[in-house]
Amino acid sequence: MAAGDTDVANQPSKRKPRRRRRRSARRLHPAWLLAGAVAAGMLLGAGIVGLFWWRQPPREIVLTVPGVPDPLHTPPSQYAWTDQPAPLFPIPPYAKHLRGVSIVLDPGHIGQRDRGGTWKRGPTGLREAEVNLRVALFLREFLAAAGVDVVLTREVDRSLGLSDDDDLAARVKIANERRADLFLSIHHNGHDKPEPNFTSIFYHESPEHSRASVCAALHLLGGLADALRLEQHLDAGVLGDRLLYKNGLAVLRQARVPAVLTEASFHSNPQEEARLRDPVYNRREAYGLFLGLARWAQAGLPRVRLASGQDRAVKAGREVLLQLDDGLRGRGGWGTDSFDVLRESIEVRLNGERLDYAYDGVSERLRVTIPRSARPGPRDLYVGFQNAYGQHVLHPLVPIEIQRP
Ligand SMILES: [Zn+2]
Repeated sequence: MAAGDTDVANQPSKRKPRRRRRRSARRLHPAWLLAGAVAAGMLLGAGIVGLFWWRQPPREIVLTVPGVPDPLHTPPSQYAWTDQPAPLFPIPPYAKHLRGVSIVLDPGHIGQRDRGGTWKRGPTGLREAEVNLRVALFLREFLAAAGVDVVLTREVDRSLGLSDDDDLAARVKIANERRADLFLSIHHNGHDKPEPNFTSIFYHESPEHSRASVCAALHLLGGLADALRLEQHLDAGVLGDRLLYKNGLAVLRQARVPAVLTEASFHSNPQEEARLRDPVYNRREAYGLFLGLARWAQAGLPRVRLASGQDRAVKAGREVLLQLDDGLRGRGGWGTDSFDVLRESIEVRLNGERLDYAYDGVSERLRVTIPRSARPGPRDLYVGFQNAYGQHVLHPLVPIEIQRP
C-alpha cells in the first residue's frame, strides 16, 4: 500500500475500532436492562396506585398527642349537645352588669287546677303553670344574687279569682307601673303532635314595635340553647307574636316596657314533659334565661332622659335637650370613654313625624326642636338609638308637655 494510501487506508482502519467501541457502548449491559425494566414496572405500579388513590376520598389527617383526644376524630360522647350532665350554676363575672336593672318575671297562667281537664297539660298531666312558676322562682334566685331589682307577677300556683283578661292586665300593669327594663313572661309550649320540642321567643307585633325587646329575646334564645341543649332549633327562634294571634299576645300587647315571652320547650313532648318534672332541669332553664339576661346587660342597656335642668314643659317652636346614655360609657372602666351611640341610628319622632336634631357626641346630648305646629298637651317624644354593640334604647318614649308658643 502506498504511503499516501496508508494514510487514507489507515484513517478508516483507525476509526473502525472507535465505531465499534461506540456501538459496544450503546449496547446495554443486561443488568442495566433489568434495572430499567424494574424502574418502568415501578413507575407503572405507582401510576396505578396513584389512579386508585385519586379515586379514593382524601384521607383524614390524624394528629395524635399521647393522652389527648384527637380533635379531628369522632367527638367524644361528652361533646354531644343533648347528653350533658346537669351543670353547676356559676354566676359569671359579666352578670355584674345586671346590678340595678329592673326585671318583672311573669310565670305564665294561673288557676289551671280550677279549670281541670287537659288544658295546658303534658301527656301525663304535668301542668304548664306549675313548671312556669318553678322556673321563675329559680330565675329570681339567680337574678337576686346578681343584684337585679326583680319582681314576680305571681308567687303561688292558684287562681287569684280574676278573669283571664283582668289577670293578664294585672300582670302587665306591674311592669308598666315600675317602668321595668324588661317584662319576661315564662311559658312552655304545647302541640297536638308529640314530636315538636324547640325554643321560641316572642316579641309583640313587629321588630319596630320595641326594638329593645328583640335585643333581649335574642340573648335569651342563646342562653336557653346553651342551658337546655334541645336537639331541635328553629330557623328563626325569635318571632313576632302575630304569628300566633291576629292581635298578638295580650301580655306583650299591653306592655309599655320591653317585653318578651319565652316558650323554652314543649310540655306536649313526652321526653320533655318528663324532664320538666325535674326541678334540676327547671333550674337549668332558669340558668339559661339568667345567662341570656346577663349577656343582654353586658351589651349595655341604652337609655334616654331629659337633660338635667331641662323642664318637662316645652313651648312649641323651642328646643328640648335630651341626655342619651349608651349604657357602656357610664361604666367608667378602661376604654369605656371611647364609646358613643351609633349616630346614624338616632331617630326622633313626635306623633309619628320625624324631627330634626343636633347631636353632641362628647356630652351625648341631643337637641331637638319641637315644631311650632305641634299641638299643645302631654306628648311622648320618641327617641330611638343604638349603642356600639347594637343594643336599642330600653325606653324610647320621653314624656313632655307641649305648651303654646
Ligand atoms: Zn303558656
